[in-house]
Amino acid sequence: MKLHKTITMAAVLATATTAMANNLDPNNPSGTVVDRFADIEVLRYVVHGFEELTLNQKKFIYYLTEAALQGRDILWDQNGKYNLPLRQLLETVYVNYDGDKNSEEFKAFEKYLKQVEFGNGAYHHYSMDKFVPGFSAEWLEQQLKNLSDKNIYKVDANQLRPVLSLIFDPKFMPKRVNQAAGEDLILTSACNLYENISQPEVEAYYAALKDTTDLTPISYGLNSRLVKTPDGVIMEEVYRLGGYYSAAIERIIDNLEKAKKYAESPQQAAVIDELIKFYTTGDLKLFDSYSILWTEDTDSQVDFINGFIESYGDPLGMTGSWESIVNFRDETASNRTRVLASNAQWFESNSPVDPRFRKPEVKGVSAKVINAAILAGDSYPATPIGINLPNANWIRAAHGSKSVTIENITRAYDDASHGNGFNEEFVIDEPTRELLDKYLFITDNLHTDLHECLGHGSGRLLPGVDPDALKAHGSTLEETRADLFALYYLADPKLIEMGLLDNPDAYKAEYYKYMLNGLMTQLMRIELGKDVEEAHMRNRKLIAEWVLEHGAADNVVQLIKLDDKTFVKINDYNKLRDLFGQLLGEIQRIKSEGDYAAGEALVEKYAVKVNPELHNEVLARYATLDIAPYKGFVNPVYTAVDANGNPTDNESEIADIKVTYTEDYIPQMLRYSRDYSPLTK
Ligand code: ZN
Repeated sequence: MKLHKTITMAAVLATATTAMANNLDPNNPSGTVVDRFADIEVLRYVVHGFEELTLNQKKFIYYLTEAALQGRDILWDQNGKYNLPLRQLLETVYVNYDGDKNSEEFKAFEKYLKQVEFGNGAYHHYSMDKFVPGFSAEWLEQQLKNLSDKNIYKVDANQLRPVLSLIFDPKFMPKRVNQAAGEDLILTSACNLYENISQPEVEAYYAALKDTTDLTPISYGLNSRLVKTPDGVIMEEVYRLGGYYSAAIERIIDNLEKAKKYAESPQQAAVIDELIKFYTTGDLKLFDSYSILWTEDTDSQVDFINGFIESYGDPLGMTGSWESIVNFRDETASNRTRVLASNAQWFESNSPVDPRFRKPEVKGVSAKVINAAILAGDSYPATPIGINLPNANWIRAAHGSKSVTIENITRAYDDASHGNGFNEEFVIDEPTRELLDKYLFITDNLHTDLHECLGHGSGRLLPGVDPDALKAHGSTLEETRADLFALYYLADPKLIEMGLLDNPDAYKAEYYKYMLNGLMTQLMRIELGKDVEEAHMRNRKLIAEWVLEHGAADNVVQLIKLDDKTFVKINDYNKLRDLFGQLLGEIQRIKSEGDYAAGEALVEKYAVKVNPELHNEVLARYATLDIAPYKGFVNPVYTAVDANGNPTDNESEIADIKVTYTEDYIPQMLRYSRDYSPLTK
């Protein structure tokens, strides 16, 4: 259950830098803005290199993308028990609406629909707060009455009541994942992973299951919903064929069976078989054996994840949110990560941490650069740009892990990001802006590579230390550790020696941007008066605030005022690197020793509380730029065609898979709801 999905700097900067890119080259729609609403911008990404794949590979990808799309409803339901009826209601009203589409109420309704589609439910994907509708309950009830009068749509009052409360009552299930200290995180979180049960009861249930002497511990709770029945019995409802989410899992399995025929090797077919067995039985031991087979298949060009993987959606970090990404290796760009991975031991042995906390032997860090072919479940429409799996610590230790950077996504961000005034507003001077223009894309990608393929895999726990000892702060501190590892090494002459950078000052671009983001600009994602909550944001703030304070005596980094505006000024990049190294040593100690108190103290002192004056200033300056703080993507459309180029459902006739980039945001969502909704029929 470690947290390895990363929204790293490229995403954040790209967030910060988008022009209206609708006039991009139609033959290369990468980065095109498809839709814009609330705090969201939806972009297109392009599957570079798809046409060059073999027909077998294309068919393989085609059926894997079908398996990916069939899981959509699972994630919606995990995100909240009324999300699926909410979606059905909103989409039905939207599709059948025949009133004035320029009215304020309808426009507000449309915006809310778009937000809900983006959040895979009623909650913001990042802040976890419930969306606030700009239309009235009376207006919606009138629309429902119209539909009912025309016999288009009737909904039972008992079913309707909670959905209306979800939309209109701010006190009803207000937050998807609550992380506020001191509260019962289960009872105050709206996610549908628990029912009628308190946090102490959940913790006691899993504590009783856990065998702390097991060297290959099962990831308890990963694929189940924990409920307490009215007569007080606590039981797991397991996600499996014939169990919870069976109808969706059945369709996923069907498509995995079809895909399997086109696997690139018997080993890869065995991976799929194991996954199917896991879906069929729900047996978490099979998930582990699947994960091992998957980790060890590093030869296949096409690869995918499909399942209950990351646990950010669970306040206790147990249950995996359903997701899928289908992808294939970008052979040229993968050279970068190959070089890093083959030097993994050097990085480990030279890291600025106590040698007792280093791994004496770093195992199988496989890293590659990929192009995503489809994003689904918890990776859609908002998506990570780097992933490192599997999450089970013991599998990582014994079998290594696979680390990827999703290059066509980072490229889409970059393509969308030219010239919108962000750097002019927030970067201190012209030389620094030039540095960023020149070196930020490559150093940002390298930062992601280092974070994913070396950072998370580095270090070790002292014997007997519970891997979950850092509890609620575990994910923040783990991301902090991986980021610091990346930052520290980004400035190392070794990268130039290895041919990954060509200028000893290049790293300064990432350093500047990291400090700017951690101290100031990431605050644009937070509402005034609120604290920083999300793990990656906390980690960046922790690092930036800590080095600001600890470098103060030497004047390493300053926040200065120019014309009443605050700027980050870095005076000594060498000392800044030393500070990153020092903090890495301390965070690694905290993890290796399981020092919860020290971890908590760091998070609470540096990562959470926002300076309201600075926050206000950032929001005000940011507002003048009209940039969406969050981005996501529409998927391309894959069509199986016969020898004449006509669409076909007949597998034996398939002569090619065509990919197109013309579908818009809401049409894509409506099509998915129509064609891939096994849990709402
Ligand atoms: Zn990470």
